[in-house]
Amino acid sequence: MQLQTERVSCNSCGASGYQKVTSEVYELDGSQVSLGVVRCDRCKLVYTNPRLTQDSTFLVYKEDTNHTISSNYCWSGDHSQARFTPLIRRLQELSPTGKLLDVGCGSGDFLRAASQSGSWDSAGVEPVEIAAESARSASDAVVHACVLEKAPISPSSMDIVTMLGVLEHLHDPADTLSTVRQLLKPSGLLAIYVPNFNYLRIKDTGPLCFLRRRRWSDLHPQEHQFHFTINTLHALLQKNGFDVLRTDVGQPFAVGNTVVRNLKRGFHIGVQALWRQTGVHLGGLEVIARVSKQPAALPCHIPAA
Ligand SMILES: [Zn+2]
Repeated sequence: MQLQTERVSCNSCGASGYQKVTSEVYELDGSQVSLGVVRCDRCKLVYTNPRLTQDSTFLVYKEDTNHTISSNYCWSGDHSQARFTPLIRRLQELSPTGKLLDVGCGSGDFLRAASQSGSWDSAGVEPVEIAAESARSASDAVVHACVLEKAPISPSSMDIVTMLGVLEHLHDPADTLSTVRQLLKPSGLLAIYVPNFNYLRIKDTGPLCFLRRRRWSDLHPQEHQFHFTINTLHALLQKNGFDVLRTDVGQPFAVGNTVVRNLKRGFHIGVQALWRQTGVHLGGLEVIARVSKQPAALPCHIPAA
């Protein structure tokens, strides 16, 4: 299997100028590719460039799951369900009933929690068939095994769309956000969770990084095409027709044993307090936005350079 790479311009502003942040070599079954992480000169969006092509990325996902970090998060359990409780409460306050679509639902952890809340008529979209099947079993919801653009969903039919740990994986998030906007009702809600680039860089380059003997950086450029900060995520949402309602520190992934999970929980409480008291955000970025009454900016489709 030969992995292919491509060079791209900024997905948010279209500029082609950038500064290099880091690079790393990715290996899979004897194939080696050099991937870069760069920061846009104009809007400061951080993105993977050069990156794996869409076809090569799907090949990576379909290979042995040990090759992707995301696979480590695709497991179900009661502690995984509890992770979503705060977000579900926030969404219930804003939109207590209606139709919810979880885009990139994976094996259905959030979909199951949303269905069990009893608030919404929930459905999912997941392009990896084996994960889509798991999601159906876990939630009893309708799950379309395809990319969002091919899912049989009527325009202006959704009250809530969720994309949790998804936007950073997409090759053209601006285009997908445009599709999401069309599927949502006027004033519909979009909930997003993405990793926080600023926090991951501290983990990768800070004073304690020598204690972590990892093969790959926490940026995972083999599957994460974008590396958001609060500012660049808000800018991308606003540019594509959404008004940001609130930003929180996302709950940590419920991985590891009980001790590790409790340590993560304690760290999360501290990071939440830091965010609320000082505006410094060092956790996962959880944003709830609403479809703007203003028209979205002109679509910015950037071909491979
Ligand atoms: Zn840019």
